[in-house]
Formats: sequence, structure tokens, C-alpha cells
Amino acid sequence: MSEQRYNPSRLLSRTLPDVLNPRFFKALLIVVGIGCSIAIYGLINSYLDQSETGPEATSPSANTQTTPPVFLPKMVRLPADPLAASNPTEAEAQISSGDTLSAVLDRMGVSNEEAFRSITALRKVYDPRSLKKGDTVTISLSSDATDDGNGRLLGLQVAKSFDRIAGVALTLSGDFEAYEIVKSLTVSRGRGRGNIKTSLFEDGIKEGIPTRVMGAFIRLFSFDIDFQRDIKPGDKFDVLFDQYVDYDGSVVQAGDILYASLTTGKRTISLYRHEFSDGQSSYFNDQGRSNRKALLKTPIDGARISSGFGRRKHPILGYSKMHAGVDFAAPSGTPIRAAGDGVVKRSGWNGGYGRYVRIRHNSIYQTAYAHMRRIAKGIRPGVRVQQGQVIGYVGSSGRSTGPHLHYEILKQGKQVNPRKVNFQSAEKLAGDDLKRFNLFRNNIDNFIKASGQTG
Ligand SMILES: [Zn+2]
Repeated sequence: MSEQRYNPSRLLSRTLPDVLNPRFFKALLIVVGIGCSIAIYGLINSYLDQSETGPEATSPSANTQTTPPVFLPKMVRLPADPLAASNPTEAEAQISSGDTLSAVLDRMGVSNEEAFRSITALRKVYDPRSLKKGDTVTISLSSDATDDGNGRLLGLQVAKSFDRIAGVALTLSGDFEAYEIVKSLTVSRGRGRGNIKTSLFEDGIKEGIPTRVMGAFIRLFSFDIDFQRDIKPGDKFDVLFDQYVDYDGSVVQAGDILYASLTTGKRTISLYRHEFSDGQSSYFNDQGRSNRKALLKTPIDGARISSGFGRRKHPILGYSKMHAGVDFAAPSGTPIRAAGDGVVKRSGWNGGYGRYVRIRHNSIYQTAYAHMRRIAKGIRPGVRVQQGQVIGYVGSSGRSTGPHLHYEILKQGKQVNPRKVNFQSAEKLAGDDLKRFNLFRNNIDNFIKASGQTG
């Protein structure tokens, strides 16, 4: 079922094996090219004495995301053209910080002229400025040296995303043609579960759950769970998630969480993903109630409460004073998230609060965030923010003893204890959505039963 949800390219979905593999790269140089595969095929065939196209030949416009890898037919034999007759060599280079594609090609011995033409062609399918540090560029050079002593550039490839490769290939006409390949990936289910020993995040990683899945898992439960107070050693977690698997069986990327369950003491919260007909998705408990509450109790990821709400001796002023919010200790620079959807009311310096943001969520509730090192870009009065959106970064501005977030919930303008604020679940599924959700939930529950209970 989850297999059907993965719908790759609408552009050009040629299903090929992982073409970063040099064996296929060489073959590809001849046959690829957006929209002009047919022309190239024709060209190659005219160059070849015998034009064989077996039944397994790739169909240029095939929209075949579910077929197994297609192996290139015999016609890929190189024509008696000087460039193709040569024995191409493959080379790879890593992008370092501040690098550009033309600088990389220069280092690899590609002439300026070839670099310019190939990059110009590549731009049709890929923006070279999106290359990041650590990305790999693969090039293919002919073995016959040109005047400058280097081989001719036959093609280059970069990974566009976890499931797409962009590249150019020198065609028989002498031009570079751009192409994009969608990797033939399948979706499988990954599962990770265990008991909490040190921290939910660390223990999850130890169980082999990908970092991004763990991050999403913690965010899912931040509506219900106060990670400082509610989590104890021995508590249990269980998560089921999509993962994209390469044709050789290796996991390329972790996808969405399908099911997440957290048991704290005697209380278990299980959340299931539900996709609406418009493609949006959200998480609901076994009753079909949304996990999204009106406001987050913990507006920063995995933070620790360092000072609760109530009367205390003020660390700087020295006398007993009401602490009208909750302090979360976190390293300077930790992102602070909007506790709920709303509109920014204040943003800027606010006396002892230092850099301060206040958000109005509805006619009753506002939230305030103080002592920021920096307010996020675009967070100005009047701007609409979404729950979970980063609005600033933890700091120690104003009257503060060290980096922390001072967080307040204001009810009708008066600070209240965030712990005491109890929100009703925002949304309950109904009608068709509820029917589909129940089917999905049963499917997941059966899968969980079949593969072993939590813990
Ligand atoms: Zn405080």
C-alpha cells in the first residue's frame, strides 16, 4: 500500500539502475538526453552497421517507475567515432565549501570551453549553485588527449536529490544534452523501538532510527509530553516509518512516520499518519483525534526546564519575585518554535526581556519568548506564523544569567502556568476521512501485532 504513495518524476521518469555506477554511466552517455532520446537513438543506429534494438530496449518516454532496472541493449556498443571509440575514464570530485562547478571541472582537467558548454546545458535540469559541500561530481573523459593533454569531456553527473540524478552527455552532434534520471526506488517500512535508558533521542538513534525520523518523532509528541518531567527510564517508544530503498537494497532516505507510539508510565499515546485527499497529512490518535493542540508546551526541541512557574528568589535581583513563565535551558543558538499558529504582536528589544517576540494565537491566548540571541528573519509585527515555525534563537539578552528561553503563556493578557493550560485536541476526523483512517489504523495495528508488540 505504501508503495503506491511514492510517485516520482512527472518530468522524465526513465527507470534505470543507479547510473552513478560507472558501468552504466558510460552506456548512458550515448543514449540519454531530455526529449531527444529518439533522435539520438536514430543517430546511433545510423552510425551502427547493425541496428539492434532488443525488446528490452528502453522506451524513451517510458513512465515506468515500478519496472525493474532496465539494462541497456546491445546497440550501446560504441560507434566508430573517435570520441566514442576511446575508452572513457571516470573521475569523481567532492565539492568543498565555497566551491563552484566550474572550479571543480577545472581541477579535473576539463577545458574552460567544455566546462562552459556543459554547465550551460546542465542548467536545463539543475541549478549548479545548489551544489553543497560534500556533494559528488562524476565526470567522464575520453582517453584520447586533446591539445591541452587532457581527455575530452564526455559527460558529467550530480545527485540532484536522494532519488534524482542530473547530468549532461556529449552527443554525436557534438552538443551537450541534459538529462534527469529518477532512480528506481521502492518504499519499504522501517521500524525502531526500545526502552528509554538515557534520553529518548539517543536511545532511538541507538536502535537504528534515522536522525530525521527521531526529530519528527519528538516533535509529534511535544504537544502531549513534557520531555523533562514525563519521561522516565524504562518508558517505551515504537516508530514505523517509510524508507526509500535502492535497487540493490540499500536505504537511500528515510521518509515519513506512519505510526509512533510512546509509553510513559502507564500511559500510552499512539499516533497514526493520515493523508487527506488534498495530499496534506497530519497525525491522529487511535480515536481519530489530532495530536495538534492549540499551543506547544515545549517550544524548543528536547529542552530542559531550568526554572518553573511561580514565586522564586530572582537570580539577579536577589529578592523573591513571581516568575511569570517557564525557563528552558538550551545552548545559545537553539531554534525557538512558535507554540501555535498566530500573528506576531511584538518583535524586538523589550527591557529586561531582551530580544522578545510575542504571538497572538486567538482572542484568549498569546505566547511570549524572551532573551533571544537573535530573532528569526521576517518575524515582524503583523506577520502570520505557523505552529512549529522557527521564530528566533536561544540567547542571553536582557536581564539573564545565561542562555535560556523564558517562555510565557498569556491568557487574556495575564501570564498563566503553561503546565496548567489544558487544551482540547484541535481536530477530530469524520466521515470519509475517518473511514480511511480506521482502515489504515487497522492495517498498522495488524502489522505491529504480526511483527511483535511494543517493547
Ligand atoms: Zn524566566
